[in-house]
Amino acid sequence: MTESPADGVTDASTDPESGASSSDPSPAGWGDGDAVLEIDGLQKQFGGITAVDGVSFDVEQGSITGLIGPNGAGKSTTFDLVTGFTRADAGSVRFDGRDVTGLRPHQIAQAGLVRTFQITREFPDMTVLENLMTAPPDQRGESLARSVLPGTRRGVIEQERELVDTVWETLDLFEIDHLAEEYARSLSGGQRKLLELARAFLTEPELLLLDEPMAGVNPTLEEKLLDRIHDLRAEGYTFLLVEHDMDLIMEHCDRVVVMHQGAVLAEGEPEEIRDNERVIEAYLGGNV
Ligand code: ADP
Ligand code: MG
Repeated sequence: MTESPADGVTDASTDPESGASSSDPSPAGWGDGDAVLEIDGLQKQFGGITAVDGVSFDVEQGSITGLIGPNGAGKSTTFDLVTGFTRADAGSVRFDGRDVTGLRPHQIAQAGLVRTFQITREFPDMTVLENLMTAPPDQRGESLARSVLPGTRRGVIEQERELVDTVWETLDLFEIDHLAEEYARSLSGGQRKLLELARAFLTEPELLLLDEPMAGVNPTLEEKLLDRIHDLRAEGYTFLLVEHDMDLIMEHCDRVVVMHQGAVLAEGEPEEIRDNERVIEAYLGGNV
């Protein structure tokens, strides 16, 4: 970790270009400095299904924000749209005050916005170690591979050494160091989840989108990962978390956004959301 991501309030409000957009209905929102992610009017149809239907919300810098909603609500698709894995039919995404709508996933990751997938996307024919060494966005893998694979040259340069150390620290943190030489395809579902989390954390993204990260993770490790998330948040990093475990959301999130049938149904602090009639009805399958 280096320094915390900077608060962009001054730059944003004094940037002459920021005021030039006549289509921006709330230029003041741009300059308030709080939102690291601004999602505005996202729309996505698949055939006849409207998966995401005009979704707008902000994620505050340095927050742990929960994104919840019944199955099929559009949470994963929203992640896909925000991170460039799916192209939106309409709407925009701003990250750190910059319009990232339509950028490629690797460009968005390089900017510091990284996500994990509900269904993990490791490289099955690479070992756990190799998977981590290819962690985006900076493709550290090549130099790392030369320094850690068996029979390597001696006297690796200090920078490479540090990267290797970081990878091993990450393996240790996620309790998969004993699996370093295993092929990813031989891992259990829970272990794959840890590998994916480890890859995402390794890139130290300013904003990390986690899609059901705790599914299949044992409770002890879950606590440890949550501690890690809180530590990183204290350093200024931001998390947007899709999670089914409502107790976890209520205990760990500062703010909660509820989606239902492709739209944002409610937004607020955990206590407000817990008592919100429309939210309760959505979860019980009633009309809202
Ligand atoms: P959630 O993550 O909240 O459970 P999703 O975003 O996965 O919801 O799905 C929202 C809706 O969009 C669902 O009805 C789902 O079937 C549909 N959907 C998602 N991805 C696709 C796709 N690639 N093709 C067709 N329909 C999709
Ligand atoms: Mg999903």
